[in-house]
This record gives sequence, C-alpha cells and structure tokens, in this order.
Amino acid sequence: MRLLIVEDERRLAQSLAKGLRAEGFAVDLAHDGIEGLHLAREGGYDLVVLDLMLPGLNGYRVCAELRAAGDETPILMLTAKDGEYDEAEGLDTGADDYLTKPFSYVVLLARIRALLRRRAGRGDALLRLGRLTLDPARRRVTVGESRPELTAKEFAVLEYLAMRAGEVVSKGEILEHVWDFAYQGDVNIVEVYVSALRRKLGADWITTVRGAGYRLTEGDAHA
Ligand code: CA
Repeated sequence: MRLLIVEDERRLAQSLAKGLRAEGFAVDLAHDGIEGLHLAREGGYDLVVLDLMLPGLNGYRVCAELRAAGDETPILMLTAKDGEYDEAEGLDTGADDYLTKPFSYVVLLARIRALLRRRAGRGDALLRLGRLTLDPARRRVTVGESRPELTAKEFAVLEYLAMRAGEVVSKGEILEHVWDFAYQGDVNIVEVYVSALRRKLGADWITTVRGAGYRLTEGDAHA
C-alpha cells in the first residue's frame, strides 16, 4: 500500500515515514500543501495523511480540491490540540478521519489500517482466499498449517494481489501501489518478488497472465 504524508514538520514526517516503511508501506513525503496536492493528484496513493496547518495551501483546501476533482482516496487529517481545528469542518471538506496531535504512532497505524480496510469494503482485519490468510497488522501469512516468512516487500506485493484477488493486476499497478515515488528502477523488479512468493507459498497461487500481469486465485490444487 502506498501512502502520501503531507506534513511540514519535517522531523515528524520523517519519523512517520520511517515507521510506516518498516511496516511495509511505500511512503512519499510532501512538506507543503501545494506539493502535497500536486503529488496526490498524480494518483496511485491508497491513503493520504494530511496535516491541517501547512504552508502554501492548508489541509482543508488540499482536501476540498481533491474531493472537488472526484478523488476519493482516503484522507486522515492531522490536527493540533490548540483549537485550530474544527472537526466538523474537516469532515465536511471530505476527510475520512482525523487525529489530534500529539498522537500515538500505534493509534495512527490502527487508523490507517482501518481506513484501508473500509476502502476495500472489508470489515474483517484479515484477508482470506481459500487456505491463504493474510494478517496485515501482524504482517503474517498462513497457508493451511504453514506460516511462510515473507519480507516486508513480499508481503506488500501479496497483500495488494490479495486485495484484488481474482483480478488481473499489471506489474505497473503493483509497482505503483507497493513502491514509492523515488523508485526509478525497472518494472520487472515485480517479477523477482512474484517468484519469491511462488517459492514460499507454493507455485499455483499466482498465475501469470501473459502480457497483462498476475492474478491471485485459489487454484485447482487448493480447492
Ligand atoms: Ca503543520
């Protein structure tokens, strides 16, 4: 899952990005409202963490502009405790949730996961496909009785495929949602991760659809 953090307090932004990357998210940063809006409009984000008080363009306006353009990416707004923020106003401009500073990182992470689940239309915290179960909060995968150890990136690729189970997902889409903006390498890096997943999960979960991408399915062997 790829996140955009728009936060002008650079140290806070860096530490959030570091924590979220360690959880397997791809994270891009913007430090003012104009840059944030520009990046958000480029698309490809699964969620935006948006500070309210920002130079250039404040969080309300960034949020309102995105919604006016029909962008429905979940937005978690960060606000300070000093009464600068009217919660109702934030939600009116189209934010999906808000968090008051100072907040605990654990709460932020839980809110992000809840918004991502809601967006995917899932109430359940686990992703299930036949004998395959993914637990995004613990980054744990089980296949029947076995519990393969995946790296953060392998898990992120599998999670994205699982969220779109049964659909053909292109390498470009996987790259866009799992790698951050700074990644300049080859789209074929995705093949390396898919090979590793096949090796660890069993070969028939991920089907190659020639010229189009990959599809995660239960497969005959798992029925
Ligand atoms: Ca700020």
